[in-house]
Order: sequence, then structure tokens, then C-alpha cells
Amino acid sequence: MNITFLGAAGEVTGSRFLVETEHVSFLVDCGMFQGLGSTEKNHAALEWDVSKLDFVLLTHAHIDHSGLLPLLVSRGFDGAIYTTRATCDLLEVMLLDSAHIQEKEAEWARERERRGETLRHPDSVNPLYGVAEARDSLRQLHGVGYDVEVRPHPTVKVCYRDAGHILGSAILEVWLETEGVTRKLVFSGDLGQPGHPLMNDPTPIEQADYVIVESTYGNRLHKPLEETTEELVEAINDTLSQRRGNILIPAFAVGRTQDMLFILSELAQEGRLISKPRIFVDSPMAKAATEVTLKHHRLLDEEARHFMRELQANHHTPLPITFTETVEDSKAINRVSGGAIIIAASGMCDAGRIKHHLRNNLAREENSIIFVGFQARGTLGRKLVDGATEVRLFGEDVPVRARRYTIGGLSAHADQAALMGWLGHFKKPPRKCFVVHGEEETAKLFADKIHSELDWEVLNPEAGKLYTIA
Ligand SMILES: [Zn+2]
Ligand SMILES: [Zn+2]
Repeated sequence: MNITFLGAAGEVTGSRFLVETEHVSFLVDCGMFQGLGSTEKNHAALEWDVSKLDFVLLTHAHIDHSGLLPLLVSRGFDGAIYTTRATCDLLEVMLLDSAHIQEKEAEWARERERRGETLRHPDSVNPLYGVAEARDSLRQLHGVGYDVEVRPHPTVKVCYRDAGHILGSAILEVWLETEGVTRKLVFSGDLGQPGHPLMNDPTPIEQADYVIVESTYGNRLHKPLEETTEELVEAINDTLSQRRGNILIPAFAVGRTQDMLFILSELAQEGRLISKPRIFVDSPMAKAATEVTLKHHRLLDEEARHFMRELQANHHTPLPITFTETVEDSKAINRVSGGAIIIAASGMCDAGRIKHHLRNNLAREENSIIFVGFQARGTLGRKLVDGATEVRLFGEDVPVRARRYTIGGLSAHADQAALMGWLGHFKKPPRKCFVVHGEEETAKLFADKIHSELDWEVLNPEAGKLYTIA
């Protein structure tokens, strides 16, 4: 049995693991690389005979796990893509949006080329895939429920368990029959932080022969939720009431946006915001994702279910929330000079409408940007978090005078203690544990921690290298 870590090895994005036995070969996740060098990496990611794959198992809808599915299908993969039903609904929104972004960015690159600019990546004039390919890939989705046994192949059994990360996110338990024995692999997917305001806690798993665990925050502890909320309240009150500016919150349209709506509404209800902000959710995808969240509200924790029902009934939401859809509506937000909280994607500021809002708001010192999610190396979001005084947006240099807040405690990812807590549920050490989905130093540090505290055999897999297991 072999496993090859095609992405998310020594980095956070591009989750894609190839599992092969003498009977089957399949992918766990098919994610896009994001950040520095990602254009070339994505174009080169599936340059092998993918038509031989039997099926794909998908942990959740985030683009760094799902974003290359349309490319996979366009390169000849015609098997089933198994994932939870909520993830299927989210993918419909996300993959189409991703396709639009690919098409737009390629158009932009061609435009720049026409103007005689030299492009950093010659590949960027061709979209990775378009809307047609995204639609094709959606037809291959096969929705499953949590906690039921799925048999994608006579020698493979899979169970999806709630990972508590975003709606529909799953930990995968995979049993593989090979050479007369059954081996169990557990893929953590992205794990949520226990006590997260909307999601259930990640499901504990007790046994595995091989564990593949994420390590996004394997080197850090999140601040307690109370302290985090206090920071958020201060940032909002300082910006809106003292400095009378606007607040930008870059957020994944799926998950993070719904979290923020929930948290902001709760703060307003508790009377902790001095002035009542106007909230704009500037992303058609976020609107659609919020609708999907409402549809699957049974998967959320109790408190959140209540809030979502209120939102659905469209009354009693403690704050005025405007979902903008058209470009005109989006542009109209530019005329709001203060008192607004603008939530827009992408979460790492690399694409989407957030870039327009950054261009309009970064130079004014009364404004603030509040970062509530992870910013990968090489992304615009990371540059801003790291204190860049000027950034390049749409070919212009924009000075950064707006105040920046990084609020770590709201993460949809488990911190080091929570990751260790989840691993601690395994009753005996697996044969091997692979640490993935973390920046190189973080993943190494976390692997050392697992080895020293749990006495497991741990490895930081090399990208693209085949590991023979069992
Ligand atoms: Zn994720
Ligand atoms: Zn991820």
C-alpha cells in the first residue's frame, strides 16, 4: 500500500493525497495551491494519467481541498467523488465561483500581456478551468451522511465523521483490504477548534494503523474565546465610534462569514457595540453559502441553530445585514465612508471583491482591517498582517494607513492543544503518523511534539514522494 503526498506537505494549501493498493487507487482531497508560486504549481498539479483513479474522497469544501476537482475531471477522471451532502451543496457554490475567478484572472493576464507587460507566469493567460468544467465535476459528486459506512470499492470502506471545522467537514476513517489484511487510515481533514461558536467539536477517533493529521496551528495556542471576543469588541468600537471609519473583514465566504455574522449579532444583542454597525456581506457566494448553512442547520450546534432559524425567518436579527449580489450593489458600498463592517472574500485577500474594498479603504487611517482567519505565506493577507506599508492592487501601489488587527482566537482550526487532545483519543499508537497541512517549521515542531508526548512514530512527508506503508 502506497501513499503519496501531492500537496499540503510542508505547506498549508493544496491538500491532495494519492492512496494506492494492488486493487485500487484514489485521491483524498483534490485541493488548489494558494499563495506564492501557486499558478505554476496548480497548472502542473495533475499532469499524470488521472483517468486510472477509481474515486475521490473529499474531506470538505474549502478550495485548498476541493479546488482542483474541475481540473481533475477535465483531465479525464470520470469516477465518483464521495463527500457529505452539505459539502456537495457548498461545492456547487464554491467551484462555480472558483471557475469564475480562474476565467477572470486569465482575462486580466491576457489584458496585461496585450499592454506589453511581462507576466510572472506565462501559464496565467490560460484559466485552470472554466465554468463548464466546474459543472462537469459537480455531476460526479456522490453525497453521503455522517457516521454511515460507504463502500466506494469492494476492498474499501469509508466513514465520514464530523470534523467541526466548517459545515459538512469530515474526518475520514478508511479501511483498506490489501494482501488479505485490513489496514485502517484516518485522515483528520481540517479539524475545528472545540467550543467553536457554530460547529460541533471534532469527533474523537480511537483506533488507526496510520494517521494523517493537519497542523495549521500545530505551533500555537489560540487565545481563549472570551479574550478574543474582547479584542474584537475593542477593534470594532475603536474604529466605528472613535475614528468613525469602516471595518474590512476578509473572510472565506463559507464558514468564516457565517461565523462572523453569528458573533457580531451576538455582540449587538449583548449591547457590547457602542454604535450599531451596518453590515455588508459583499459576496454572492457568501449569500449562497449562508443559504446552504440554513438548509443544513441541523449539523450546527444548538445555539447556532437557533440564530440561523431567526436569520432564515428574516426577523429579529439584531443587526442590519445586507447581502450584495450585483457589481453595482458592491460598488455602492464604496460610498459608505464610515460605520460599516464589510465582510468579503477571499479570506486571504488574494482574489474576489475584498481586493476592491482594500483598494478603497487601505489608505485611510480611520479604517481598520480585522483578520480573523489564517493567512498563508505569500498571500496579500499575510503581507498586510506582517505590516507592509504599501501593497500592489490592480497594478497600483496602495499605501497602507488603515489599522490592522489580527484576531487569532476565532480560528476554524484546532490549536496545538486541541490537536493534541484529538490525537490523545487514540487508544494505542498508530504504526505511523504523517503530519501535513502546516508550514514547514510548524509541521516539524508539531511532529516533534507528538513524538515526545505520545511516543508515536511521526513523519513530515516530503511533497511528491511515495511512501510504502503496511
Ligand atoms: Zn478548511
Ligand atoms: Zn485546509
